[in-house]
Amino acid sequence: TMATNAAFPPYEYKEGEEFKGIDVEIAAAIAEYLDMELEIADVEFGSIIGGVQSGKFDMGMAGMTVTEDRLQNVNFSSTYATGVQVVIVKEDGAVQSLDDMEGVKIGVQQDTTGHIYASDTPEKGGYGEDAVIAYKTGADAVQALITDKVQCVIIDNEPAKAFVEANKGLKILDATWVEEEYAIAIAKENTELLEKINGALDAGLEVGVYFYSQAITTEEAIEEANFVMEQVQRYDITFPIVYDWEITEADNARTSNIAPYTVTECAAAFCDT
Ligand code: GLN
Repeated sequence: TMATNAAFPPYEYKEGEEFKGIDVEIAAAIAEYLDMELEIADVEFGSIIGGVQSGKFDMGMAGMTVTEDRLQNVNFSSTYATGVQVVIVKEDGAVQSLDDMEGVKIGVQQDTTGHIYASDTPEKGGYGEDAVIAYKTGADAVQALITDKVQCVIIDNEPAKAFVEANKGLKILDATWVEEEYAIAIAKENTELLEKINGALDAGLEVGVYFYSQAITTEEAIEEANFVMEQVQRYDITFPIVYDWEITEADNARTSNIAPYTVTECAAAFCDT
C-alpha cells in the first residue's frame, strides 16, 4: 500500500475515482517490476509519515521532500525527482517579487516543506508563524489567494504550474525559493522493501520523471539521456513511465547537438508502444 495525498497535480490527483499522476505511474511501475500489487490510500499529507512509520502503509509517495526531520522517522529511497518551492501570486496583487513578502499573509499546505520553511524565523529565512496560514490542501491555499485571504502561496513548482493554469489571474514569481529532492518514504525497519525499491529506481525509473519535471535544456538532462539509453540497453527496460511527456521538435533539436540520442529516442525506448 502506498499512502499519498491526491491533491498535488501532476504528481498525484484523482480523475473521478481513479488515481493519476507521476507518482502513481512510478509506483505502478515499481510494483510491476517487483511483482507486487499496488494499493493506494489517500490520506492527509501530514499523516503519511506517521502511517508509514507505524506500518499501516508500506510506503509514502506524495512528491515528498527528503528532510533531516523526516529522516528521523522514516527512511527515504533514492530521489526520483527535483522540486522547487515557488511563490504563486495574483497578477495584479500586492506581492510582485520576493521583496514584497514582508507583512503579507502567506498561504501554504499543512505540514509541507513550504509550510515548515515559511513559518521559520526570519533569521532562518522564513517569515514567522504569524505570517503563515496553513490549509489542508494546496488547492485550498490557492482558493484563499483567489479570495484575498492570503497574498501569496508557497508551494512546489509543478503543482504551482497546474494551479496557475487552472485559475485565471494568477502567476508564479520568477524566483526560486528553495530547491529540494523527492523520494519515497519507507519504514526504518523495512530495509528489505527499501532495497527493492531502490533496485527498481536504479533500473531507470528516475530518469523519465527527471525529464518530465525539469527543463530538458540543461546539461544534467543530457547526462540523464545518456543514462537512460545505457540502462535501456543493459536491462532491456520497457517501463511505460514517460508520463504526459510533451516533446517538442525544439527539444529534440537542442539535445541532438550535444547528446547522442534525441529525447524522442529515449522516450521511445521507455514506452511499449
Ligand atoms: N514537497 C513538499 C513536501 O514534501 C510538498 C509535498 C506535497 O504537498 N504533497 O513537503
